[in-house]
Amino acid sequence: MTNDRTRNTTTDYDPMLDLTATGERLVDPRLMNTAAQRKLQPSRKYSLNTILTGLLIFNCVLLVFALLVHANPQWAASTMHSSQPTEPVDTSVPLPAELTDINSVTFLVDPSHSVPADYVPSDLESPYVSSTGEVIQVRSAVASDLKEMINDANDDDAPLILTSGYVSFDTQEDYYSDRVAMVGEAEALKTTPKPGFSEHQTGLAVDFSDKDDGTATTTAFAESAAGKWLKEHAWEYGFIQRYPEGKEEITSYSYMPWHYRYVGRDTAKAMHDADPNMTFEEYFQTNK
Ligand SMILES: [Zn+2]
Repeated sequence: MTNDRTRNTTTDYDPMLDLTATGERLVDPRLMNTAAQRKLQPSRKYSLNTILTGLLIFNCVLLVFALLVHANPQWAASTMHSSQPTEPVDTSVPLPAELTDINSVTFLVDPSHSVPADYVPSDLESPYVSSTGEVIQVRSAVASDLKEMINDANDDDAPLILTSGYVSFDTQEDYYSDRVAMVGEAEALKTTPKPGFSEHQTGLAVDFSDKDDGTATTTAFAESAAGKWLKEHAWEYGFIQRYPEGKEEITSYSYMPWHYRYVGRDTAKAMHDADPNMTFEEYFQTNK
């Protein structure tokens, strides 16, 4: 009896038929109660459940995505686009007309954007005479705000001496060649643009001094009553300090506390509200 039982049991399981036709592994009944078997059985059931559940969730996600695409094709386009490799930025995007129209008070002049050599503003006014007797001209769009600013500064015991306004192309040539002869081209370019690249040719730029002796302006102007008053109030009259301290990399020019540029009261206020030290380049994002 002991031998038969043993033989029957072994006949039920043949190691050579371990796998059925469907590939399912047969289990040796003798191992049914072993720890290894207890572990194997539930694991396989769990895998099937996981696959079925996964398929169901995947279908649901597809359905939701399809509904979203149908509802908002633009969102779909941007979402799908963002997963693609970044395309190179198109730097050929033209500047807005307010920066390229020479009649605009926000016309851009920088080392890459010049004023046509033959351009002379058609509406120059000359109500100002410098302390050295030179007549100073500005565009009519600037004149009344400039006059009001100079009067108010005077009333606040911060007299402004106007030293420059419109500068012709020919005069720029003289300034530039003189400066290059004096300090060399690299040093000259930090403060003196090549002919055609000076804002002064637009009739929208002005220079100030706090001295009436006609001497050249220096950065010491910033510490004078006039320099401090301008830094605080110029925006109220539509002017911005065009080349501020610490922004040399952005403007391409040295700190010039005496040089102000008219941009109109609305723009000057918007720039001041954004940041009192904001440059023209930062506000209009011209360095993109
Ligand atoms: Zn200037």
